[in-house]
Amino acid sequence: MRLYYFGDGKAEGSGTLRETLGSKGADLAELTRLGAPVPPGFTLPVEVGRALLDNPEQTIKALRPELRRYLARLEEHSERTFGSTPPLLVSVRGGATTPMPGALATLLNVGLNPQTCKALGDWSQNPRAALRIYTRYQREYGALIGGVDDFYFEEELDDVRRKAGLRFDDPITIDALQELVQRYEELIETWAHRPLPHDPHEQLEAAILAVAASYNNERARHFRDLQSGEDPGGCGLNVQMMVFGTLDAESGAGVMWTRHRNTGYAGIDGDFLFEAQGEDVLHGLREAISLREDAPAGLATEKPQLHRSLRRLANLVEGHYRRMHRIEFTVERGELFVLQTRPSRAPLEVTLQVCADMVDEGLIADEDALRRIDAEEMHSLLHPRLAPNHGAAALTRGLATSPGAATGFAVFSAQEAERFAELNMNVILVKNETTPDDIRAMRSARGIVTTRGGMTSHAAVVTRQMGKPSVVGCARVRVDARKQTLQIGEKIFRQGDVLTIDGSSGEIFEGELALMPPDLPESWHRVMGWADQRRTIEIRGNADSAGDAALARRLGATGIGLVRTEHMFFRPGRINAMREVILAQNPQQRKDALARIEPHQTQDFEELLIAMDGLPVTIRLLDPPLHEFLPRRSEDLEAIGDQMGIAARDVKRIANNLRESNPMLGHRGCRLAISWPEIYDMQTRAIVRAMERAQRKGATVRAELLIPLVSDPAEFRYVRQRLDTLYQELEPAPGMPERLRIGSMIEVARACLLAGEIAREADFLSIGSNDLTQSVYGLSRDDASTFLPAYLDAGLMKDNPFHSLDLHGVGALIELACERARATRADISIGLCGEQGSNVDSVGWLQNGVVDYISCSPYRVPIARLAAGQATVLQRPRSRDSRE
Ligand code: PEP
Ligand code: MG
Repeated sequence: MRLYYFGDGKAEGSGTLRETLGSKGADLAELTRLGAPVPPGFTLPVEVGRALLDNPEQTIKALRPELRRYLARLEEHSERTFGSTPPLLVSVRGGATTPMPGALATLLNVGLNPQTCKALGDWSQNPRAALRIYTRYQREYGALIGGVDDFYFEEELDDVRRKAGLRFDDPITIDALQELVQRYEELIETWAHRPLPHDPHEQLEAAILAVAASYNNERARHFRDLQSGEDPGGCGLNVQMMVFGTLDAESGAGVMWTRHRNTGYAGIDGDFLFEAQGEDVLHGLREAISLREDAPAGLATEKPQLHRSLRRLANLVEGHYRRMHRIEFTVERGELFVLQTRPSRAPLEVTLQVCADMVDEGLIADEDALRRIDAEEMHSLLHPRLAPNHGAAALTRGLATSPGAATGFAVFSAQEAERFAELNMNVILVKNETTPDDIRAMRSARGIVTTRGGMTSHAAVVTRQMGKPSVVGCARVRVDARKQTLQIGEKIFRQGDVLTIDGSSGEIFEGELALMPPDLPESWHRVMGWADQRRTIEIRGNADSAGDAALARRLGATGIGLVRTEHMFFRPGRINAMREVILAQNPQQRKDALARIEPHQTQDFEELLIAMDGLPVTIRLLDPPLHEFLPRRSEDLEAIGDQMGIAARDVKRIANNLRESNPMLGHRGCRLAISWPEIYDMQTRAIVRAMERAQRKGATVRAELLIPLVSDPAEFRYVRQRLDTLYQELEPAPGMPERLRIGSMIEVARACLLAGEIAREADFLSIGSNDLTQSVYGLSRDDASTFLPAYLDAGLMKDNPFHSLDLHGVGALIELACERARATRADISIGLCGEQGSNVDSVGWLQNGVVDYISCSPYRVPIARLAAGQATVLQRPRSRDSRE
């Protein structure tokens, strides 16, 4: 059985041998080779760890000669002696091939007995420190190997201190420690039925067996359950010389970050404690000395030489790993030792700063920086906030539990939240409290309000994790889930009423307040710049209001690829008119109701076009089935009937007639234009007048119209001809285009097959991958979430195809549609505006020449920009074949 030695700048292993040595062993070997001051030691490889688990007694016996040989090497090298003086003590630590922080056992100070404890005291001239180390060892040995509950040790300690007359913070005396050693010996013997052996070799073997066995403890098993990949069946073990930070005033322990931990700025950072061991630093027991160069009375002034050594160490580690690291170290009688170093887990802002600086310092290339950033994490930087000086008075204030602001329609149940969100509407979920059943709904909501709960309530914890604003524990708010109302003071809000919440202040406002993105750091702009230089696809935003459009533009969108005009109908002042359009009993009534909506639409379009001055704006004409605009409750229907002078019975009959068994395959999209052409006529008039007005105000207008749910070229031609004729009749003002630019959505399978012919009629194409996934899979986008998790659990699907494009099926059809369209018109512009467009995995494939642009919601624009840039340097699916 081969062991691997490391020490004094040489190591038999290396960083590449993770599978053989376990990650800790590989790291120690690598650091030693690098010339870092690692205490010497040796690694028992994973293969030995496995044998120790399978066949403990035989293995440890077989291991004995090698252990002795390696210990002798260690003694020679360290000039200390195992079991004698100056005493060599060792630590035994487990190290799995995939790190499992804190899961595997560790035993420190192996080799201590009454004689070596005395030798340690004499050697260091600090018998008290030696005794403290001994009692610590007894406790750890007793717990790990004897199975003694720590509580009993604590009880003995209290008793000894009491008897010695020591008060709470009095340091323990040598006499008391000596008595404690005695008591701990007895305690271990009583509870473990075996004394702590005094023979250091026996201790070492017991420690090795116990640490190897910890591979199967509950924590480690739990870790493995969370990991995929093969179980290597055991862990590596590292036996390493102990160094002590508690021996004298020149000793201590600390933790160092190679850059400032909270900002990523250049310069070492961290804490150091004199006469302490590593744990004291981690637990923050005493006030530590700062490692920061600029800290008053920091280590740089207290111990300049040590500080210089630490800076050299930081440079050595960073120069090798080219990452910001967190390094645990000990100083023993003035000599620096590294115990562990690993890449520091940092928030995105810090990672961005470090990446930008490392590129400047020549440590990494800009493409390495791109590889290091998790595009999805971008959300954490993009919390929108309320635009300053909004002037609105808050209705009430609860606990500010998760930062950022959100605006949307109030909904009172998880089901409704999901339903609205699937229609791409922004919702604020309002409940008394949330439970794990609400997770999906919480994910789809823009923000969460609960009347009950505190900083650690379900809603608070989950929203913080999701990076979503929440306001919790609003005492002045009453929610009636049955009636679906929210009462704040005297005011009653119903489903669909718009609220704005500020999770940074805990305030709730009535109506929609303008949001803006936070100030993004310079390093963010640089990293995004590198991504933009590399990507070959254009990124536009989906937006239905000038506010959202401006936001998308600020976040880097170079156009609006989809305006879902139906969302405009839900805004105050329009929804009733829209309901009258639907319930109208004759064409005149419908025309009158539409005439009331038209000025609103014109205004909305004008603002949007001005916000996107100079950039393309693709406005899609009405798409969803009409009954989605009708209220669900019969009282509300009756109220509309009253308003319109229609009998309750008749309103209900009309509403019932509109209900469809398969509304998503029913009376929607351009089919509405064929049966009820007045709606598209009104929208087209509004767009044309808005274009003229925006142009008059100096904006460069690049509006285009998009016709949804086309399944046949003739259907598209029919609608287009009507709109073209209408455009001529409207006698557009000078400077307006000759002809409207009108495109077709490609979102049903038939449209893909006939894309070549549709391309003859349409000025551009936009792939609606949401509906296309629905129609290609025959999978309802509204209902799939109830059973898709079972497919994912059973391994029948890798991803939800509504999140990540199904490249084999839907992707194949998209490719075919694009090929056929380009065969007709080589230069036709093709976009994709479904939700999958910004999926990190899908973007790479999409920009591989498939489409010219994607369009996604504003906050996903940076994610898509980054993911597209990253895809050029990462092995993300670039072709359909590269995906399983
Ligand atoms: C689509 O179907 O992909 C699309 C963008 O339209 P909607 O989601 O509005 O149906
Ligand atoms: Mg669609």
